[in-house]
Amino acid sequence: MEKIQALRQQVDEVNEHILQSLNARAALIKQIRELKDKVSSDYFDPEREEEMLRNIIEKNEGPLSGKMIGDIFNHIFKVNLEFMGISHEKLPLVSDINKVKFCTIKEMFNLEKEGPYIIAGPCAIESLEYAEKIAQLLKGNNIKFIRGGAYKPRTSPYDFQGLGKEGVKILSHVGKKHNLITVSEVVDGSEVESVAKHIDMIQIGARNMQNFELLKRAGASGKPILLKRGMSATIKEFIFAAEYIALQGNKKIILCERGIRTFENKTRNTLDISSIPIIKKETQLPIIVDISHSLGRKDIIQPIAKAALAVGADGLMVEVHPKPELALSDSRQQLDPEEFQELLGALEA
Ligand code: PEP
Ligand code: MN
Repeated sequence: MEKIQALRQQVDEVNEHILQSLNARAALIKQIRELKDKVSSDYFDPEREEEMLRNIIEKNEGPLSGKMIGDIFNHIFKVNLEFMGISHEKLPLVSDINKVKFCTIKEMFNLEKEGPYIIAGPCAIESLEYAEKIAQLLKGNNIKFIRGGAYKPRTSPYDFQGLGKEGVKILSHVGKKHNLITVSEVVDGSEVESVAKHIDMIQIGARNMQNFELLKRAGASGKPILLKRGMSATIKEFIFAAEYIALQGNKKIILCERGIRTFENKTRNTLDISSIPIIKKETQLPIIVDISHSLGRKDIIQPIAKAALAVGADGLMVEVHPKPELALSDSRQQLDPEEFQELLGALEA
């Protein structure tokens, strides 16, 4: 019994040594971080961790196995990183201002005016005549961006699929004529280059937010990319989708919150208003809110537009059509020219 007592006392003493050593180690790591803070933001160094682990295991004489020692030290490393507030996960470029600086919307398009910017236009380009009417409406209201789908991702294959190349041609034509910045969606990687030749900003739609090959190809075009949030995507997934574009060296990315799927069916999607300040906090990227696809209805568009701008959105996307009741897609949510002007008036006030 006395022997056990004596051994227990020794264990207590070893515990105290370990305790002191662990804290001494943490204090050293803290000093290293303070020195590193002055030169870079790269704190997590997996190679250095591996090297330390190799050395420790080499020196291990047992009775604990190398694997056991490895597990213990891995845990020590992990706790130390947590102590420093460093995550093992690589910080995305889009978050890390020290690595790459991303463009503001103003810088992307050499604009004079500060935001909020409005991207408006029909759901789909349906004819030259309609596109021309909308372009004139936008020009008359000093709006800089015109949108219009040529390749439409439709739920039903029987619904209008867009005019394709012809739609791109029409949008590009009215854009040039009225000096508007054109925005149109690409749904297939093979169309990126041909659309990029004629359109100023490539839209990646909600349904393709995690089509990684499309993101890479669009990113590589060097064109500004408007990336819409997937309807079932978390904010983290949204940010990492943007990261695929950024990794192509593309610094012109605009995110677009367009609502997510929930059980609520009073609106087409549930506008996640909190994503805007979160994305502002966690990334450097500009973000706009698509008030048409988030709502799927127009009667509450004014308060929602104001709310989006109030929480810090850099702009709005809104669908407008010369005759919404005749539109070949999203007929219920598209504003007519008068309603569009009312919205602009309400925003100005
Ligand atoms: C669109 O903007 O034309 C569109 C189809 O929207 P979303 O991808 O957000 O559904
Ligand atoms: Mn639409």
